[in-house]
Amino acid sequence: MRETLSPLFSEEQIGESGMDRLQPGETNHWFKELVNDSPVAIYSCDKQGYITFFNQAAATLWGRQPDCGEDRWCGSWKIYYPNGTPMILDKCPMARALIENMPDEGEEVTIERPDHTFRNLLVFPRPLLDNRNVIVGVHNTLVDITEQKKGEEKQAILSAIVESSDDAIISKTLEGIITSWNAGAQKIFGYTEEEVLGKSILILIPNALRTEENSIISDIKAGKKVDHFHTMRLAKSGKQIPISLTVSPIKDRQGRIIGASKIARDISERLDTEYTIEQSAQRLGILNAIGKTISEKLDGQSILQLVTDATTRITGADFGAFFYNTVDEHGDACMLLALSGAPLEAFEKFGIPQNTSVFFPAFSSGGVARIDDIRKDPRYGKNAPHYWVPKGHPPVVSYLAVPLIASSGAVIGGLFFGHPGPAMFTAEHEDTVVSVASQTAVALENAKLFDEVKTLSAKKDGFIALASHELKTPLTTIKGYLQILEKKETETAGKLFIERTLTQVNKLNSLVSDLFDISKIEIGTLQLYCETFDVRELIFEIIETFHYLNRTHQIIFRDPGRALFIEADKQRMEQVMINLVSNAIKYSPGANIVRIIVEHTDTTVTVKIKDEGIGLSPIQKKKIFTRFYRAEEASDIAGLGLGLYLTKEIIERHHGTIDVSSELGEGSEFFFSLPLKST
Ligand code: ADP
Repeated sequence: MRETLSPLFSEEQIGESGMDRLQPGETNHWFKELVNDSPVAIYSCDKQGYITFFNQAAATLWGRQPDCGEDRWCGSWKIYYPNGTPMILDKCPMARALIENMPDEGEEVTIERPDHTFRNLLVFPRPLLDNRNVIVGVHNTLVDITEQKKGEEKQAILSAIVESSDDAIISKTLEGIITSWNAGAQKIFGYTEEEVLGKSILILIPNALRTEENSIISDIKAGKKVDHFHTMRLAKSGKQIPISLTVSPIKDRQGRIIGASKIARDISERLDTEYTIEQSAQRLGILNAIGKTISEKLDGQSILQLVTDATTRITGADFGAFFYNTVDEHGDACMLLALSGAPLEAFEKFGIPQNTSVFFPAFSSGGVARIDDIRKDPRYGKNAPHYWVPKGHPPVVSYLAVPLIASSGAVIGGLFFGHPGPAMFTAEHEDTVVSVASQTAVALENAKLFDEVKTLSAKKDGFIALASHELKTPLTTIKGYLQILEKKETETAGKLFIERTLTQVNKLNSLVSDLFDISKIEIGTLQLYCETFDVRELIFEIIETFHYLNRTHQIIFRDPGRALFIEADKQRMEQVMINLVSNAIKYSPGANIVRIIVEHTDTTVTVKIKDEGIGLSPIQKKKIFTRFYRAEEASDIAGLGLGLYLTKEIIERHHGTIDVSSELGEGSEFFFSLPLKST
């Protein structure tokens, strides 16, 4: 092993160097200690470049112990130019200082250590001359600037970030004096760096908000950060800008708070977007609600009122009105049907907007009129009798008129909106109202159709009531005469014909009665004449009747053996039983049995009429109690589809229920329940 630290200078060199007050031995020893303990890296080479000495600081910097007398020029593992190009050892600053006999003042090099870490150095090689000025070697002082370089790089990156940021990044003292100002700040607030450096931050704060600064500064002094604080700041132009502010304390090396850095983000665009989204969502919500409500409503006036109210709200109009395009008895071609945001009196006395050239298009060709400032419209002021917005009329500057067009292309009417401010109605408002108007036109047409259907239906009910009433009178007379004839006739053949004619007249009579009953139900005049009777008695009478009328089916009745009293209209209950039993016979052409079963609880009696006939599908079961419904399978069997409807009405008027259980091809069981008369 070589000695790590060799003598820096020979004793003769020291003796000649002027340090003659010390003894040569002492001097060398003194130097050795001084240089070796120095925190500055120092080493020397001889004339051939072989390292003759290095101190501990140099060895630490290199990350290795070079071999004195073997390693040349530099003790590091590798050496590079600052740009990273490897440096040839013979061209290193140390070699050049020796060759050129010139000191080098702080050239920068990069060294690599055996562990592949790098250090940046400033080197100061100087030739060593003896007292004859002959070069005997060279020594070098190495200054480690690695941390400084890193700091500079970091600083450069930070500066680039600050400069390229769209946000305003500003620093200020605790007294509020601006100390730095980036390009983002200039863009947002309009001041250049020169204009604001040294000025108070208050130039950016609107008067009304100046107290904010005190509270921000006191937070900063307390070491607190102000995070995403939404406020307003003042630009050079005087415009107020909404910003999101983050303010953090700036500390010195000792950790003392010496100022604040603030990042201000211009959030006007974000707020605009948020506002637009909120508006659109609100509009969509209203539109949905309108769509739903008008599709459910069938009354034109309330549809129009709802649409006028909602569109007035959506457009932010001061008032909204719907004018109907019609000719009334005075020859006026338009009628105010709905108004929103203003009292009716505010409009009543003013004619109709359709007559003015400004609004005529909305009523005639169906075009939309959106006017930002009616006072600037060339057509304004030229329409009699008011010429301008009439006196007493709500003040209007912005107008929007949207027609309602029917599917035939005819203009049903128009929605009108007014606002006292200019340019209040946007293209978006127009689109929204146009789409509501087209939905409304459809809804109004539906409402009109519904009205027509209602009128027709009322006419039909009136006709049925009249016709059945008119038919009933001659039928009763015919029946009376036939009964007299039947009694007088002695001939067997004649008796048979009269009997058959009577059967047909009875059928006709029952059909006409059904029609008559239906009309009574519709107009609410079906009367009940209630009495107390035993249900079983009624059933026996019905069986008796069918015994004569029907020759195909046997009616089987299991008598429960005790009286079951109900309070009901006996004739109507007879009608119910006849209906259900004759249906059971009619719709079971291939069978010959109909069963009547009576069950009861303490409070109700249930009568079941069961057949073995054609049965009903689940869908048919749901429909058979409605007016005029007839199952497909029953098309060959005579009927009007009124019997079950009447039956259900009669049962329900008696506070009872009726239903059916059946399967197609498997027969049916109709059953109704009625309350028993309490004893
Ligand atoms: P109508 O018998 O005059 O057609 P109803 O109102 O009495 O009128 O009956 C309505 C429809 O219900 C019938 O057309 C028939 O399709 C069905 N229906 C009624 N009773 C039965 C039954 N017992 N079995 C099968 N279908 C029936």
